[in-house]
Amino acid sequence: MSASDLKILAKDFRAPTDGSFRIAKASGQAPRNAPNKKACEKQLNKVAKKLDEQQRRVYAENTHAVLCVFQAMDAAGKDSTIRAVLKKLNPAGFQVFSFKTPSPEELDHDFLWRTTCRLPERGRIGVFNRSYYEEVLVVRVHPEYLDSQRLTGVAKNRKFWQQRYESIVTHEQHLTRNGTLVLKFFLNVSKEEQRQRFLSRLETPEKNWKFSAADLAEREHWKDYMRAYEQCINATSTDAAPWHIIPADNKPFMRLAVAEILHQALARLKPEYPSLNAQQQAELPAIMQRLSNE
Ligand code: ATP
Ligand code: MG
Repeated sequence: MSASDLKILAKDFRAPTDGSFRIAKASGQAPRNAPNKKACEKQLNKVAKKLDEQQRRVYAENTHAVLCVFQAMDAAGKDSTIRAVLKKLNPAGFQVFSFKTPSPEELDHDFLWRTTCRLPERGRIGVFNRSYYEEVLVVRVHPEYLDSQRLTGVAKNRKFWQQRYESIVTHEQHLTRNGTLVLKFFLNVSKEEQRQRFLSRLETPEKNWKFSAADLAEREHWKDYMRAYEQCINATSTDAAPWHIIPADNKPFMRLAVAEILHQALARLKPEYPSLNAQQQAELPAIMQRLSNE
């Protein structure tokens, strides 16, 4: 880190764990001292290289898995953030899964099943582009989606959603206890910035494919989504699996912030390359001698 780099601390982006998160107060805009685009990209390049080194250690140590969950409104930039943050990593070291409308097979299982099948194993970084959180976000905004889950004897009231939050919190505690570091990112794009990005998708022929009329329909439910996000984040932000609220209107800053937060979390794991025991060490000179003499 050079003197000109902005100090980005994960704690400044962490949602509180006491239920006091208010989405109306969370700005989509980067902090005032955010570097310009070029400086953000330069700093990101440095962090991305460090992430590569950290991921190698995580892989070699084979003790921890890392799960990064991304949730956001449409066009917040989940895809491009994932790409930018992981750009320097060995592709064998991480896995990205996107979760869309559930398939009939997925609907035949409980709501945590499909993502559980895709959890990262020890040594890997797993990225969820959308996740089981959709089950308390899009499904909360459209409770009629629950019909296809064929849950019987369940009243879809406040208690029902409370129980879903509990299932999620318990699931994440279970993962944490079993060696998975869980980090959650809410990319917080403002409604106005989303409008601009949709317009750009419509105006640029190469981006047309990214636009779907369904996105516009969801935008109509903006307030309901914000309420669902606020309740969800308050109910599921824990010390074991914290939410980070990342302003998403400034893409270069958003990418840098996510990369720095991941870097700091990996540093806390202190992954180390395995070391050889005394006997293995003692055998090295003889093996080297043999190879040199070949
Ligand atoms: P992009 O940024 O490219 O638009 P995306 O993640 O929005 O990517 P889409 O294919 O546009 O991908 O949309 C996926 C849709 O699937 C989202 O609207 C999301 O809410 C929905 N979805 C995901 N999980 C569930 C779920 N469990 N139940 C119902 N809908 C879901
Ligand atoms: Mg979409």
